[in-house]
Amino acid sequence: MHIHWVQHHVRGRFQVDLMEWLRQHIWPEETRFGDLSFARRHAAAFFADMLRAGTTMGMAYSSPHADALRIAADATHGDWLLGNSIMHKGAPEPLCEASPDNAEEVAPLLRQLGRDRYVITPRFALNCSAELMHELGHLAQTENAFVQTHLSESLNEIREVREAFPEAIDYTDVYDRAGLLTPRTVLGHCIHLSKRELACLAERRVWIAHCPSSNEALNSGRMDLEAIRRHRIRYALASDVGGGPSHSMLHVMQRFLKQHRDAGAPSTYAKPSIAARWPVRNASVAAKKPVTSSRASGRILFYYRARQAKSRPNNGWRNS
Ligand SMILES: [Zn+2]
Repeated sequence: MHIHWVQHHVRGRFQVDLMEWLRQHIWPEETRFGDLSFARRHAAAFFADMLRAGTTMGMAYSSPHADALRIAADATHGDWLLGNSIMHKGAPEPLCEASPDNAEEVAPLLRQLGRDRYVITPRFALNCSAELMHELGHLAQTENAFVQTHLSESLNEIREVREAFPEAIDYTDVYDRAGLLTPRTVLGHCIHLSKRELACLAERRVWIAHCPSSNEALNSGRMDLEAIRRHRIRYALASDVGGGPSHSMLHVMQRFLKQHRDAGAPSTYAKPSIAARWPVRNASVAAKKPVTSSRASGRILFYYRARQAKSRPNNGWRNS
């Protein structure tokens, strides 16, 4: 429930720091999605690979380009929510220029694709002004729309957010002030959080997209699973391609078990410290909850679901 289809081609570029990785590999790649034939080719390849990996539902980030988003919407197999990354500052100029810079440019996309298929996507705090996030938060609340963004993935990112938003208590507060934290919000990563932030996320009833393979690849740290569980914050597993090197959810589940078992767990969680059924549940049944009301999605019926998705034409872009 957290993946970047436009990073499919550059996945697995392991790096020691998120911000360097974005600047060196990811943003230059995403500028290429202004080219429609490039976008068409890559959308077809991405969704075909997802189907082969047995993933038939998800929530995906697109590049800022509205046309690339439309192309992806027409190429999906299964239940997918898509959002074009809103990033009007702090990135290469072609991306900022392609991005919506006010909510009035986002509302038509939400209307056209529908709120079950479009997710409002402020990429992360460093790519948006407080004013823009406030407009997006208002839109999300009035339309009861999904929101996806990133929160507290790396220490350098957090330091830059603190400098950019001195009026906020912390990173979580940047989004909370904007009204972006709702039960239909999915926050990627959430690795370095204070007690105050955890309490706030629990109160707002957001979802966390936990991306262990990506966190490993980018040296971001380990999400504090024990604290997330203690605060009863809902979470589901995600590959976060291209930070994560593989779209296979089996790979993500394996990294989840390895990472959290290696780190140990409080004895209150019984033995074994991290049960093998946890990742299975959080990659399937739990992951479908924020995404869809479909009864079939999220069950461990990959073959059935994949066949269903393959035989069912996608319902594409409305009014196009
Ligand atoms: Zn991501």
